[in-house]
Amino acid sequence: MSLIVQKYGGTSVGSIDRIHNVAQRIQRLILEGNQVVAVVSAMSGVTDGLIALAHSVSETPNDRELDVLMSTGEQQSIALLTMALHELGVRAVSITGAQAGICTFGSHTRGRIKSIEPSLMKKYLKEGYALICAGFQGVTEDGIIHTLGRGGSDLSAIAIAAALKADICQILTDVDGVYTCDPRVVKSAVKLNEISYDEMLEMASSGSKVMQSRSVEFAKKFGVVFEVRSSLNHNPGTIVHEEIPSMEAIAVRGVSIERNQARVTVANIPACNSSYAARILTVLAEAEINLDMIVSNVAHDGLVRQSFTMHMSDLGRAQAALKPVLKELGPETRIETEAGLGKISVVGIGMRSHTGVAATMFQALADADIKIGMISTSEIKITVTVDELVLDRAAQVVHHAFHLDEINRLL
Ligand code: ADP
Ligand code: ASP
Ligand code: MG
Repeated sequence: MSLIVQKYGGTSVGSIDRIHNVAQRIQRLILEGNQVVAVVSAMSGVTDGLIALAHSVSETPNDRELDVLMSTGEQQSIALLTMALHELGVRAVSITGAQAGICTFGSHTRGRIKSIEPSLMKKYLKEGYALICAGFQGVTEDGIIHTLGRGGSDLSAIAIAAALKADICQILTDVDGVYTCDPRVVKSAVKLNEISYDEMLEMASSGSKVMQSRSVEFAKKFGVVFEVRSSLNHNPGTIVHEEIPSMEAIAVRGVSIERNQARVTVANIPACNSSYAARILTVLAEAEINLDMIVSNVAHDGLVRQSFTMHMSDLGRAQAALKPVLKELGPETRIETEAGLGKISVVGIGMRSHTGVAATMFQALADADIKIGMISTSEIKITVTVDELVLDRAAQVVHHAFHLDEINRLL
């Protein structure tokens, strides 16, 4: 008998037929003698619908109330899935994040998990129930509802698997696993049999939304090995685990893209103003703007250009936050903005030991006549911005340049 924690995403429970399909999958595991905890997302489109509803009442809905509203999406799906299990004669109960003992802290709409007190889950499991748990939610020590950031049911599942010391943790979704690139964008992308936490983390945080990046961070921290696989078939998926030496054999594991990016440049900052970077970053942090790439250049005239990328939806707030400090930075200092950008990243732990990765990437983009904007690198990732209109083509040529379809098929 194994204790299996599974997570079913929005598309996997996106219709009544799909809910019955999930119920049958859980029934099969129970009949095989396993204990099952299924963490479930809201039906696809429901969370977006709830956010739209909030915005139809208020232009700036209060985050605390948004959490109260958004968390109802998952409560619908756990109740429906549990009812479907009852129809099959499976003993099952639904539980909310609070009942699962998920204690959170931090800001509303992006709460963080502080601890999990799993005694109620353990009691139900001991009594022979399958547990259907609401993803994406928890409560503070005072009982205030928090949601865990978009895609946060992944985090709920990984954290519950860690707390219950589950034998198996599976993230079930609408693709067969983690691919070398989003298969909707690169048709020749292939499924990876395995990927390291660090590669998964870099891919997730640079746009591969198949996993929420914070959930991967959590899995790495607590050593939760998990599998990403399809809820629509029984094919083996992708195992995400600690890196092993053989993983360094290939330089690039995958390509990620991210749309809806914008660039803000603060130009003409006198280089003698030594505190400019701290001042700019502080006001942007106070405005809760998530910066991604940060690049500084000093020109011959001694003036600095400091550029950042961010999600398009933060652009207006970033401009507003920077305006009051422009004069402090220098009399000629001004803001330039550019919208309609995309980011493309190549990721692989093999980059630590292989040279020429950036050269291959840039050459592939140049051959396809795609202009590169900003560049940033980490030990295992190279990211560039391009015009969003050519982003898909950029992903296709870069994927091809590293022969990702062939190399990974052989592994
Ligand atoms: P769920 O609703 O199950 O949480 P998501 O929509 O969050 O599912 O994630 C699955 C989607 O992630 C896929 O449909 C796919 O288009 C997208 N995706 C992006 N990058 C990748 C990748 N590298 N491998 C697999 N899927 C990817
Ligand atoms: N329902 C939430 C969202 O759409 C959480 C999740 O699906 O993981 O972001
Ligand atoms: Mg998801």
